[in-house]
Amino acid sequence: MSHPPLFPRHFSRSVTIGALVLSSQVHGQTANTVSPSDQQAFERCLAELASPAAQAGVRPSIYEKLTQNLAPDLSVVQKLDYQPEFTTPIWDYLAGLVDAERVEDGQRMLAQHRDTLRKVEQEYGVDPETVVAVWGVESNFGQSFGSYPLLQALGTLSCNGRRQTFFRKEFYATMRIIQGGHIAAERLVGSWAGAFGHTQFMPTTFERLAVDFDNDGRRDLMDNATDALASTANFLKKAGWRSGQPWGYEVRLPDGFDTSGEGRRQRRSIAQWTARGLVKADGSPLSDHGTAGLLAPAGPNGPAFLVFRNFNAIYSYNAAESYGLAIAHLSDRLRGRGPIATPWPTDDPGLSRAERRELQGLLILRGHDIGEVDGMLGQRSRAAIEAEQRRLGLEANGRGGQKILRTLRSE
Ligand code: CA
Repeated sequence: MSHPPLFPRHFSRSVTIGALVLSSQVHGQTANTVSPSDQQAFERCLAELASPAAQAGVRPSIYEKLTQNLAPDLSVVQKLDYQPEFTTPIWDYLAGLVDAERVEDGQRMLAQHRDTLRKVEQEYGVDPETVVAVWGVESNFGQSFGSYPLLQALGTLSCNGRRQTFFRKEFYATMRIIQGGHIAAERLVGSWAGAFGHTQFMPTTFERLAVDFDNDGRRDLMDNATDALASTANFLKKAGWRSGQPWGYEVRLPDGFDTSGEGRRQRRSIAQWTARGLVKADGSPLSDHGTAGLLAPAGPNGPAFLVFRNFNAIYSYNAAESYGLAIAHLSDRLRGRGPIATPWPTDDPGLSRAERRELQGLLILRGHDIGEVDGMLGQRSRAAIEAEQRRLGLEANGRGGQKILRTLRSE
């Protein structure tokens, strides 16, 4: 996602909607300095893993070659334990992930890969807009893969930290992928936790679900968009995708509606939702695509959505409802539909990536050292925002929203 680097599937981005953890924005890879004792401990660990790796199907010669000059990167262990002090509201998250830029880029990708996407839909039953929306959120259409060498990151996490059993499986899977000739070792870079490629699959997910759609004998999710798009569709199909069905739609809640206790898993029939007074956002009656859960990520006074089975398939891609909503909404935008109709309950809406870059430029003009203008409001950008908010007599919370942008713009 142009929120590189990407998070691993299924565990670390286990965030709740409405208070999304923004650890992606505090990333900055620092020079890797390893003490001799850390290096020795790592080498001892790698020597111990040689035998379980062989049992997991990694040829000893491959294991030796791939671990020969490996140094640990202990920064990834810190990532595993990182507890962000900063959470961001859902409206900031969506404003950055589903902005005009990503909709335009996605439409270009739909046109560019039309033939492949048509074949993918015939094979897996997943429509082009959904596949391209996943691609856009996962890797910004192949532009942001993460920059951690996979063997180094997964080797380090196999020998350090609290998830070693989990990461060893991924480490061995990475080696099997290389051994199978699918992707070269030096091409395998990704998130600090090992998600890689266009679709940000973990190595074991790759082994289960990646497909060689162009039939060249390799399943390549790094340099082959055709394989990647088909693999995404295959993932969704295996996660229970129903062809021709919508993920859900925005609804309007009746006044005084109590959203507490509702959620993705509290499924009711459309007849029940209708009886409780829900209509589509445009006021038309609810359409029936099976039982549905209600998502109201900002409570009863913000946007609300009824979600069907296909939303759960999207959700299983990364186990976060905010993430699922980003993909679902982006897919709708790619179908030509409009923005979310109900405003978020805030007087300071979020910023698109273009607006974040503009804000960063305005901060630099005022002498703040915020690093690169990258559209990601990391630690230094937030500190600069906070300083400006204080100077301007605004609430000093370090958050980049429309208020601070408009104020700095008009100064
Ligand atoms: Ca291939």
